Amino acid sequence: MQVANDKVVSFHYRLTLDNGSEIDSSYQAGEPLKFLVGQGQIIPGLENAMIGMSIGESKEVIVEPAQAYGLHKKELVKTVPRDQLPSDIELQVGLVLTGQDEKEQEYELIVRSFTDADVTLDMNHPLAGKRLNFAVEVVEVRDATGEEIKHGHAH
Ligand code: ZN
Repeated sequence: MQVANDKVVSFHYRLTLDNGSEIDSSYQAGEPLKFLVGQGQIIPGLENAMIGMSIGESKEVIVEPAQAYGLHKKELVKTVPRDQLPSDIELQVGLVLTGQDEKEQEYELIVRSFTDADVTLDMNHPLAGKRLNFAVEVVEVRDATGEEIKHGHAH
């Protein structure tokens, strides 16, 4: 059986950046990642590259930013007065803060720089603008159940 729409796929992956640093790996967690094909559950560049793969097959996949977490957008980098942040935060470049939007959805902000007066915060996804290198291995492919297709995700 091959990876195709409406199949549930389990796969192991190792994700590295162009500089060789490992960002994530399903081997560390032990469990393969499972998803329902055709529902946008994983980034499009990786999903498309896996279509047609068979159980036990391995592949190296390079995904450009536009097909991964998007391009790095300058308009999502903002400088705000320092007193808009809680005063007990010890600022550091690279520090990740959690914000909340009007719908109480949490999102991450990265501190890019700061002075006594201002803080520059980056709301882009940490992997925005980055080319991703995946080594994937298909562990299992099966037909999705009617319930999984109705829900739009794998059970
Ligand atoms: Zn469900």
